[in-house]
Amino acid sequence: MNVSTVGSGGQIVIAGAGYAGLHVALRLTARLRNDSKLDLTLVDRHDYHQAITELPRVAGGTRAADAVRIPLQDLLATRVRFVQTEINGFDLPGWRLLTEAGAIGWGRLVLALGSRPNDFAIPGLAERALSVYSASDAEQVWAAVSKALAAAAVATDPGRQRRLATVVVGGGGATGVELAGELAEILPKVASGHGLAPDRPAVLLVEAGPTILAGSSPQLIDNATRILSDLGVQVRTNAMVAAAAEEGFRLKGGQLVEGGVFVWAGGVRAPDLVVGSGLPIGHNGRVKVDRYLRVLDHPEIYVAGDLASIVDPRTGHVLPPLAQVALEEGETVARNLHAELEGRPLEVFTFHDKGFVVSVGTRRGVADIAGITSSGRLAHLLKDAIEWEYRQSVRHLRGWDPLAR
Ligand SMILES: Cc1cc2nc3c(=O)[nH]c(=O)nc-3n(C[C@H](O)[C@H](O)[C@H](O)COP(=O)(O)OP(=O)(O)OC[C@H]3O[C@@H](n4cnc5c(N)ncnc54)[C@H](O)[C@@H]3O)c2cc1C
Repeated sequence: MNVSTVGSGGQIVIAGAGYAGLHVALRLTARLRNDSKLDLTLVDRHDYHQAITELPRVAGGTRAADAVRIPLQDLLATRVRFVQTEINGFDLPGWRLLTEAGAIGWGRLVLALGSRPNDFAIPGLAERALSVYSASDAEQVWAAVSKALAAAAVATDPGRQRRLATVVVGGGGATGVELAGELAEILPKVASGHGLAPDRPAVLLVEAGPTILAGSSPQLIDNATRILSDLGVQVRTNAMVAAAAEEGFRLKGGQLVEGGVFVWAGGVRAPDLVVGSGLPIGHNGRVKVDRYLRVLDHPEIYVAGDLASIVDPRTGHVLPPLAQVALEEGETVARNLHAELEGRPLEVFTFHDKGFVVSVGTRRGVADIAGITSSGRLAHLLKDAIEWEYRQSVRHLRGWDPLAR
């Protein structure tokens, strides 16, 4: 398809088929199922949607990478034009998205390009540490861990063996905690498979702040810390990574944390192409939006998901980069695009916090829901149920469109 011909005055273009962008596409086609005039294009570098919240399981080897790649052709109605290409930039005055496949004109643009790992300009980090922000990243973590354990099994020097069999995770937020828990539970079995003593592998979780899961209730933090300790994860707080070298993470105080594999889960920021785009940039390169999720001074562009910088009036803080926020923002953007098409007033975005659930290992978790903290098996089941429900909902939404295949 020659994408330079698809742009037209009324076309809605969604950049990014992640949690936010896919939700906008699905909800809009469902809402406008009887309106044949809807002209919708979805653009992504991949022809699949990634269930990112499940990546720690891929990195821990308990789920295949392909299981978290959901083909878009199974989700989208035929009336949604899908363009698989890399987005390189924006022609803001010309209302055009610049891509490797050519320029795509928009009547309305939805920016939902997500995040990328933030290395905070820590020397050596980008080169030395792995990350977990895509199915391929997570696959690489699992491959690196398996390779390091295989090398440890044949190492004759005990110090070298210990170092190779140690995985160091940087960043004690939800991603770091989930990853550390998953690995700690699975590595003894993998070690045995390589003829290594099951207690030889070690997992270290290194966090710059005074606590893991910063911002959560003290009870949830205590519960998560206890489960991690049960699983043998060594948690080190107030430990700021200053540099990454071949042999390990160098902390601010000069101490070296050695390991065979390093994974960085210390935070995210907006993709570079947005930072240099001329769009109004807020915290961590995210795009500043108004109450309706439209870019400030660009009412023809909506932003949803991690990329949107919007302050929660209840807390005074920018909303965190979470899938549940992305889905709610996607819902509001779909409603507002529909309202624009029908000449109705726009809806103000309000976030309804559904709670916080983190799996810790393959069987336990912690959760804060409606002010009630729970931990253990139930919290893990809750996490499974949320992921299952999400997969059902994306498939179900497609089914609402009578023009769907
Ligand atoms: C390991 C991990 C675990 C997580 N667990 C949870 C959890 O349990 N609960 C929770 O609420 N949140 C969780 N999150 C956060 C959650 O995944 C994000 O907040 C969510 O993915 C944001 O959705 P989004 O639509 O903004 O971006 P994404 O889902 O990242 O989608 C962005 C899309 O844009 C595409 N794209 C980006 N740049 C380009 C380009 N230049 N050209 C073409 N396409 C492009 C990408 O391919 C992608 O499909 C987790 C995050 C990670 C990394």
